[in-house]
Amino acid sequence: MEKIVILGAGPTGLGAAVRLKELGQDNFRVYDRNSYIGGLASSFTDEAGFTWDIGGHVMFSHYEYYDKCFQRAMGGEYQENMRECWIRMMDRWVPYPFQNNIRYLPPQAAYECLSGLVKAQTQADHRSAQNFGEFIDAVFGEGIAKHFMRPYNFKVWAHPPEMMNKQWIGERVAVVDIDRALKNIILEQDDVAWGPNNLFKYPLRGGTGEFYRRLGNEVADHVTLDSSVEYVDWREKQVFFSDGKMVKYDTLVSAIPLDLLCGQMLNGGAPAHIREAARELRHSSGAMVGIGIKQPCPSTKSWMYFPEDNCPFYRVTYLSNYSPYMTPDKDRYYSLLCEVSESEFKPIDRGTIVEEVIQGLINSGLLQESDRKDIVSTWLYYADYSYPTPTVDRDDILATVIPWLEERGIYSRGRFGMWKYEVSNTDHTLMQGVELVDRLMLGEPEITIGMRYASTQDGRQAAVHERSVLAGSGDPRRKGTAYAYADKAKPVDG
Ligand SMILES: Cc1cc2nc3c(=O)[nH]c(=O)nc-3n(C[C@H](O)[C@H](O)[C@H](O)COP(=O)(O)OP(=O)(O)OC[C@H]3O[C@@H](n4cnc5c(N)ncnc54)[C@H](O)[C@@H]3O)c2cc1C
Repeated sequence: MEKIVILGAGPTGLGAAVRLKELGQDNFRVYDRNSYIGGLASSFTDEAGFTWDIGGHVMFSHYEYYDKCFQRAMGGEYQENMRECWIRMMDRWVPYPFQNNIRYLPPQAAYECLSGLVKAQTQADHRSAQNFGEFIDAVFGEGIAKHFMRPYNFKVWAHPPEMMNKQWIGERVAVVDIDRALKNIILEQDDVAWGPNNLFKYPLRGGTGEFYRRLGNEVADHVTLDSSVEYVDWREKQVFFSDGKMVKYDTLVSAIPLDLLCGQMLNGGAPAHIREAARELRHSSGAMVGIGIKQPCPSTKSWMYFPEDNCPFYRVTYLSNYSPYMTPDKDRYYSLLCEVSESEFKPIDRGTIVEEVIQGLINSGLLQESDRKDIVSTWLYYADYSYPTPTVDRDDILATVIPWLEERGIYSRGRFGMWKYEVSNTDHTLMQGVELVDRLMLGEPEITIGMRYASTQDGRQAAVHERSVLAGSGDPRRKGTAYAYADKAKPVDG
């Protein structure tokens, strides 16, 4: 039987492994450089007893298969939370989504946002926007662009929006409905994105990573940890590890960042145009800073967005609200998990970032100066690869590199294996692994990597389940496959 080697024990690699086992395959092995399973979806408990994710992980599943995996692994050991999101700006809390709650702003800013929105919606055509920057201006107008969309997105992506494409947006950015915005202002209506339809599951103990640890247990006898890939000889079909070990494969599945795989690891002479194309892929890094506080939690909020420059983070999560077991004692402690992005356009100082975050929490009104004495834990995790940037040329790069690899039996999938931010959450990545195995073993088409998100009026019913021309897998486009997977791919929630 052919041997499948899987590089990376994050959600993608685990999805592939679990599905292989389910299909009765035995000749496969997963390798990871870490001493633990889970990749970016891992969690850590610090010495003070606080549990941290690598950035607050919220699970919104689009797939029945993923739901079944979660149910099997977690049983009843999870909590269901209602998402409650806010934006902190101009010394006030604005409910998310921003564009539907302009009335919370000071009058001058509210006027600028509304006036810009009317002009944009009546005069601009976002279909002609060439990049994300132009898309922001054309859809939201000058006021929202200036006060929220541009500063916030730069803080998240650490790249100018003109470098980014607009295809990734889909359900990620709630596009505005002008009538709704006006109505909310005139009728003084709240228009929040939370409610019974916005529940998310979270493991009771051990954070997000507990789900992947348990999933890993299902394939434990196929996993080798502490094994860092140094290079791949694609001609001989061999993987070499930094400890000198070598394994042979027939098929290679890789969740290693694609730019590193093609740019540095491929031995045997990858053509220059492949190496160079992959090197053009861009990403941001991220510092995840956890602050444990010896006080009862003061808020019911889930997470908050921060567009202003009085704090380094773009997002803060009340992680202790996700489950009662995230701190040493739920009645006496709470925790804030803060995410700060980094790139060549937005450098950070890792030596001072924890203090800068604490000061930012004070500046933005989450903490008082007097709360410093109650900070009993600080935690820092630096993710070298945090967000795959959807640049303007990304899909062309993928359309060049991915087919070349696949012709040589190498399947690059996952958050940084496929580089598609729009399908790089945990549910998407686990399913990228599952669907790849179904393609290899059963000849079924992969849906997720070809999923295209169209930008519609409300941006929330926008998933188009078809293979885009630049789906990236190198497969010819197949007719009528869009809904063949109806049992696995659920429509995006409303
Ligand atoms: C800040 C942040 C917030 C997020 N929030 C959410 C969220 O709210 N909801 C959600 O669903 N998802 C979220 N995600 C995304 C989620 O973490 C990813 O979908 C998921 O972890 C990607 O899985 P993967 O297997 O593709 O990649 P990874 O998790 O990155 O796994 C890749 C694995 O490859 C291994 N590897 C890399 N190089 C080598 C090498 N040379 N040798 C051996 N092994 C190697 C790594 O150690 C790693 O374990 C977030 C991610 C980040 C960074």
